[in-house]
Formats: sequence, structure tokens, C-alpha cells
Amino acid sequence: MAFPISEATPVRFAPALPKSADVVVIGGGIIGVMTAWHLAERGARVVLCEKGRIAGEQSSRNWGWIRQQGRDFGELPIMMESLRIWRAIVPELGEDIGFRRTGVMYLAGSEAELAGFEAWRLEAQGYGVDSKMLGAGAVAGQISGASRRWPGALFTPSDARAEPWLAVPRMAEGAVRRGAVLIESCAVRALDTAAGRIAGVITEQGRIACDQVVLAGGAWSRLLAQAHGVHFPQLSVRATVMATEAMPEVFAGAAADPEIAFRRRADGGYTLAAGSGHDFYIGPDAFRSFIPYLPVLKRDFRSTQFQPMAPRHYPDGWMTPRKWQADRPSPFEAIRVLNPAPSDKLLARMQAAFEKTFPGIGPVIPRATWAGMIDTMPDIVPVIDRAAALPGLVIATGMCGHGFGIGPGIGRVVADLTLGRDPGHDLSRFRLSRFTDGSTLTPGPSL
Ligand SMILES: Cc1cc2nc3c(=O)[nH]c(=O)nc-3n(C[C@H](O)[C@H](O)[C@H](O)COP(=O)(O)OP(=O)(O)OC[C@H]3O[C@@H](n4cnc5c(N)ncnc54)[C@H](O)[C@@H]3O)c2cc1C
Repeated sequence: MAFPISEATPVRFAPALPKSADVVVIGGGIIGVMTAWHLAERGARVVLCEKGRIAGEQSSRNWGWIRQQGRDFGELPIMMESLRIWRAIVPELGEDIGFRRTGVMYLAGSEAELAGFEAWRLEAQGYGVDSKMLGAGAVAGQISGASRRWPGALFTPSDARAEPWLAVPRMAEGAVRRGAVLIESCAVRALDTAAGRIAGVITEQGRIACDQVVLAGGAWSRLLAQAHGVHFPQLSVRATVMATEAMPEVFAGAAADPEIAFRRRADGGYTLAAGSGHDFYIGPDAFRSFIPYLPVLKRDFRSTQFQPMAPRHYPDGWMTPRKWQADRPSPFEAIRVLNPAPSDKLLARMQAAFEKTFPGIGPVIPRATWAGMIDTMPDIVPVIDRAAALPGLVIATGMCGHGFGIGPGIGRVVADLTLGRDPGHDLSRFRLSRFTDGSTLTPGPSL
């Protein structure tokens, strides 16, 4: 099976380009789509421009975990709200998006890891999350047919799962029903400014006048922002995934140990990934951001494969232009859908690990394999803020590999932030200035 969303997918959202809007959203991933949804619901005239296809990048390629468990405590209240939004909108989106509250489980590889989970749980208790510790026997009662015995686990029964490539396009339809204008195959080449503030955007189809822009461009956000003098140390890593053919159920939810991450899918297969393995392409932005990333590099060094250069036209490619003319094709048109080749090494590793862990359920037969570029920040939490240097620009990016579950909540928060309303949560953890005001960056749990 080919990956369900690619450049070959027919364009579905192609209305004429409006001349003006209250807000233009850049990027049709879950963050941009759910921001447009909430903006339109609040009566704003909103246009969303997507250079390729809605949910073509991270928002369809992710594992489909919707988890409160293991979250940074800055994110947790937004995530809890997000789960409420998921539940509220599922009847509209359709049951076949596969939303199920089947829980998320972290299987400890050692007593030390278990202690780390317990430390998180103790603090999470104060927020009212139902996370609990399971002993070895209770784990064995939940996960059937495993060849190994884990010393224990962290388990959150109210966490959920959904099918990303079905859910996010449905959310886009919901945003349109609320009055948002979504346009695919429409790259925003540049921000248009007047008197030092946002006056519009220049797209490949023409200009849209607006006072407010939300930048939700995933792995491409840094490239666009820095061309306008707004800097943040966002980088991307390649993550490889496999969807198996249908297999017997060993656990209804999503679970991971240090070697294998697996999630039951609605079609009876599993979405698999190798515990924490990923690839990192070294480019000019990576060099510039080396110092802020040192703490996470030290922590994740062994799970990172370093590659000397990204494929052509990637956001941090050596030859990718950092400046361009708005009346010419931009780097955003060079790759409509970022579709990295999966790592054969990681695919082989996850297949072997799943078969070894569950020897009784038959050989793993891959139905599809793919990869995605996860956009990340040095402290593993996003930027959700107004850009002080460019009034009218709101940044919502750097979801650090966990933006699918929290996407509906972030969309609500960003919509209110953009409209000058109370976002309802403390967003100081996500402020843009943390990279420049001398703050010590404290990496989030990335559990
Ligand atoms: C393999 C993998 C596994 C993951 N697993 C999980 C998980 O289980 N749970 C979870 O919560 N999260 C997970 N994530 C993370 C999650 O998928 C992302 O955090 C989330 O999808 C980010 O959404 P986004 O809208 O910010 O970015 P994206 O989905 O990447 O969307 C950004 C969009 O912006 C568009 N764009 C960029 N620049 C421009 C421009 N100039 N003009 C027009 N359009 C532009 C791009 O084409 C793209 O479609 C995973 C990610 C990956 C890759």
C-alpha cells in the first residue's frame, strides 16, 4: 500500500484566492487546520494556505497516539482540554477516524526507568490525570502473549488513539463547514509587511491582505520566519514507521518499551516504530543551533543516527536558499509534500523487535512503510507566541513529535491568542523570547 497522502493525491480544496482575510494561517497540518476551525467558529474570516496537501506531512505520518501521559507540565492542561475537544468533535468527524480511549502504556525497561515514570505520575496527579503505576503482574494482565516480563509500567486509561490520515482531513472539512477557506497547492512565499507589521501574505497564487498571520508550517516554519528576521532554533529529525497487516490483538491501546512502540489500529493492524531511533541530517541551521541542543543531544545521542546532509530542497538542506524573491518560486514549492524515505535499518529493527516480543501472533507483514520529518525545539516544547519583532505574526510550531494529540487544543489556544482573547492557559513556557533572553532551557520530559 502506498502512503495515503502524497503529491499524487488529487487537490480537494481549491477555492479562488480571497483578496483579503482577517487571519491567514500558513500550513494545513493539524495545528493550522484546528486553528482555522476555531477562528472560523469565532466568526473570523480565515484563509488557510497549504503548499501541498492537507495533512500531507507530519499530521498524517504520525503514530496516532493521543496522550496526556509523559507530557511536559506546561502542555498538560492544554492536552487535557484537547482530549475533551477530540471527544466533542468525533461525532461530527465520524467514528471511522478510529478515536478510541484505549489507554497509553509505557513499559519500563529497568527499575530506574520505572522510577522516572513514577516521578512524572506524582506531579501529574495534581492535574487530575488518571495515570497509574502497574506492577509486573498487572502489566502481564493487560498485554497478552509477550515473551518478556517488564518490571512495571506507567498507564493512563483515558488516553486515546486515532487514525491520523483519516482524522485530519475530516477536521479540514469541519473547518470549511464553519466558514474557513482552505487552499491546497498554495505556498506562502513571503510575509508582506508595511510600517513594520504584517499587512498580508504573498502566495504563489497572489497576495492576500490581512493584519494577522499564524505560522503553523511544521518543519518549514523556521525557513519562512528567519527570512523575515524572526529566529528560533527549530530543527527536524526523520522518524520511520511501519503499518502491519491485521494481526491478533495483544493490547487495545498504544504502548512502548525501549525497543518497540506499537499502536493497535482501527483496521486490525499495528503501527510500529523502533523505541527511540531516528535520523538527523546536519545542515546550516543545525550548525547554528548546536549550543542550545547540547543537553538533548547528550541525552539522545545513542538513539540518533547522524547524516551529513539532507536530501535536496529539504528545509535545512545545504543548497536550500535562505533568501528568495516573492515573485519567483520559493523553497516551499520545491517540495510540496515532505516524504522522506524510511530507514531500512530501523524498519528491520522494529519488525524483529515486535516479532521477538510477541512470538505467538505470527510474522509481521508490512502493509506500508514511511517516514516523517518531526520538527523539534531544543527544550522539546513548542513555540506558541506572538513575534514581538513583527506585530501581527503568531507562531505555532515546533510540536516536537507530540502535536497530533494536542493539536485540537493548541488550535483553540492559538485562535484566541490571535484574536486578542484570553488563551485560557499559561503560555509562558512556550514563549519565543526564551531562546534570546538568557533563560536556561529546561528540556521537557520526552518520555
Ligand atoms: C513519525 C511521527 C510520529 C509521530 N507520532 C505522534 C503521536 O503518536 N502523537 C502525537 O501527538 N504526535 C505525534 N507526532 C507529531 C505530530 O505528528 C506533529 O507534532 C503534528 O502533526 C504537527 O502538526 P503541524 O500542523 O505543526 O505540522 P505538519 O503536520 O507538518 O503541517 C505543516 C504543514 O505546513 C505546510 N507548509 C509549510 N510551509 C508552508 C508555506 N510556506 N506555505 C504553505 N504551506 C506550508 C506543510 O506543507 C505542512 O503540510 C509524530 C510525528 C511523526 C513524523
